[in-house]
Amino acid sequence: MRNRRAALAAIATAASLALTLTACGQDSEGGSEEGKGSTEGATIGIAMPTKSSERWIADGNNVEKHLKDMGYKTKLVYGEDDPDQQVGQIENLITQGVKALIVAAIDNKSMNNVLQQAKEADIPVISYDRLILGTENVDYYASFDNEKVGELQATYIVEKLGLKDGAGSSSKGPFNIELFAGSNDDNNTRYFFQGAMNVLQPYIDKKQLVVRSGQTELTQVTTLRWDGGTAQKRMDDILTSAYKSERVDAVLSPYDGISIGILSALKSDDYGSKSKPLPIVTGQDAEVASVKSIIADEQSMTVYKDTRELAKVASNMVDAVLNDKKPEVNDEKTYDNGSKVVPAYLLEPVSVDKANYQKVVVDSGYIKESDLK
Ligand code: BGC
Repeated sequence: MRNRRAALAAIATAASLALTLTACGQDSEGGSEEGKGSTEGATIGIAMPTKSSERWIADGNNVEKHLKDMGYKTKLVYGEDDPDQQVGQIENLITQGVKALIVAAIDNKSMNNVLQQAKEADIPVISYDRLILGTENVDYYASFDNEKVGELQATYIVEKLGLKDGAGSSSKGPFNIELFAGSNDDNNTRYFFQGAMNVLQPYIDKKQLVVRSGQTELTQVTTLRWDGGTAQKRMDDILTSAYKSERVDAVLSPYDGISIGILSALKSDDYGSKSKPLPIVTGQDAEVASVKSIIADEQSMTVYKDTRELAKVASNMVDAVLNDKKPEVNDEKTYDNGSKVVPAYLLEPVSVDKANYQKVVVDSGYIKESDLK
């Protein structure tokens, strides 16, 4: 890849020099930018995981928009949460001659062979939001500070339960909490969970927080493919087995779709009635259904990640790589994928609840006010 690009850049530079020499004084706009001529109008392949969650639909649209604004063509595909389908789609994109790939993986470990094909075809790969593991063939990573997402969710629980207020013998609690995590094949899952547990574990150790189900290990609390129905069933089972006379006070949920499932299970068990208030339930992504739920005092909070910015970062990475420039990164140590540390640009997530949703997600134009009616 580098060799071919270097050759292209050398050709472009030589051509631009020749132009400058022969057409001295003429405007040679574009010709002096290394490699630009070779990538202009190139097609970029974008592989997104699923249309079942609105954030990925917005991600796909935003990435296309940014790339088109920069003069690229795009091919956008959705894998419908089926890893084999996604791998097949990426193979097709390679066959169709895309010049770069932006991939939000469904299963982060299923990509080795297909990314080897990309490598052989000189196609750079940007890992989008979710880090692809176990391969050298990932050039850059664009994401959010994923540990911070979990920290924000857990900090919200700690503050709303007032756990920090009472030190020593006047400590508040014990409160009952249940823990949910995302899909075990998504690398982000462990970062979200770790970030949350860094905040919650001290209170669990002090018994101010009690996990009545006893399910505290990541392997016990994951939710395959982030499926809300799966989470609903697990919450139903936990309520039946561990909460006969007790009440759950907080639920750590990593994603809005999971939160909606958890809330359905709670409501079927009479939570939300006058005598049995809903617990604190966290979330992530600021999806419309969840922001509406927050306004209706059901879900407590979500973590907003401005996917418009993420799309911009990933698109700029593609443009830089294709023009033999180093993309802007702000983290070159955290994201070791098992084969290499992937240079990353991480954006900041923001905690959102009823008090600030208007300012953060509506006034910023992320969600239309009319969609929340
Ligand atoms: C993303 C989250 C999203 C989840 C489920 C994760 O990889 O980082 O924003 O909630 O996938 O789609």
